[in-house]
Amino acid sequence: MNCRVNLIELVILWIACGLQAVAQTATPVLATPAATSNLSFIDTSIENASPLYWELDEAGETQVYLLYDHERDSPNRAAGHWHFRVEGKPKANVRLVLNNFRNVWNGKTGVPVSEKSIAYISTDGKNWQVVNAKLLPPGDRVELNLELPDSGSLFVARLPPYRLSDLEQFQNEIREHPLVRFEEIGKTVQGRSLEIISIGKPTAPHRVFLRGRAHPWEPGGNWVIEGLVRRLLAGDADSLRFLTRFNVAILPLANKDGVAAGRTRFNMLGKDLNRNWDLPANEHLCPENYALEKWLERAIAEGRKPHMALELHNDESGKLHVSRPEGMDHQTYLGRMARFEELLREKTWFREGSTNASFKNAGTLGEGWLVRYGIPAAVHELNCNWIEGLQDYPSSKNWKLYGSQLCEVLETYFDENK
Ligand SMILES: [Zn+2]
Repeated sequence: MNCRVNLIELVILWIACGLQAVAQTATPVLATPAATSNLSFIDTSIENASPLYWELDEAGETQVYLLYDHERDSPNRAAGHWHFRVEGKPKANVRLVLNNFRNVWNGKTGVPVSEKSIAYISTDGKNWQVVNAKLLPPGDRVELNLELPDSGSLFVARLPPYRLSDLEQFQNEIREHPLVRFEEIGKTVQGRSLEIISIGKPTAPHRVFLRGRAHPWEPGGNWVIEGLVRRLLAGDADSLRFLTRFNVAILPLANKDGVAAGRTRFNMLGKDLNRNWDLPANEHLCPENYALEKWLERAIAEGRKPHMALELHNDESGKLHVSRPEGMDHQTYLGRMARFEELLREKTWFREGSTNASFKNAGTLGEGWLVRYGIPAAVHELNCNWIEGLQDYPSSKNWKLYGSQLCEVLETYFDENK
């Protein structure tokens, strides 16, 4: 009996092994791409284009796969920037599905798109209009339905882009102005020059520092900075008065390499430029922050410590991040931030509010500069989907307006904090 069972088992084993061998050597079944499509090409040769690959699936739909950028020594990864040019038949409809929004942030899975997400299209790469970005099940894909113009070519972006060439053009425009100074403070990982732009008189009684674009997908801060600088240099009575009260030092585009490469969040060596400010910056992994830290320490040693610092970002909330780090008396700082927020509400379109009483985020520039240097500093997010105070979508125009409105906020804030 036992022999007979063993024989049957052997036969079954032999058949199973044979089937496995067949399975291992079988040719994989590949989806057959659709033969025709209204889409000719997705062009990622343009400046600040997002790295991606794409394919036409069997249904003739275009699947676009964004590439993640990764943080060093961390599970964190990010893909949230999209910017490319669609080429196809004139006036044709093209449906794209964007994939790979399974980001990891602060060690947790998170999706950077929602029901509120929007996208922008442009025929010339300069003038942008909002289109719907439809969230698809299970909530980690986005559908874009596009109608190509007569030219058959359409730029598509997550937010109105602010490229390195936009910054260079703006800097060239203001470079010779008598109230503007440039100081090279260091270089990025890839050797791009980092410059602090100073506006106003060195002898002004108050000093404010602004940094934009630690995170490449977030261009809002660049438009705000441009609006603020243009207002300060307008040459009218108000702007001349602002500059008797305060001067401004700006690092406009901290993550130049990331913007050039169309990345989402980290520098080219996987460092988040809005993290690790609780410790001295690593010169080799994070030269962008090292250069800024050295500039700040020189400024402090020479008696030019900023009286306020704002770190500009984009997210889906748009709040002022007021940190309450452990082990320090926050009362003076909280009082100043509360007044600053009041003035934002009074003199600008800001309505998004500030973080709650338990908020802290060690390592951000806001909290790091407060703890290490005693500078009233905050991360200022700008809502990437909607501007409540204007009942309008974000745009370069609306963000530049905010920058110009900030001048009056700063004037009153500093007048009250003598
Ligand atoms: Zn950010």
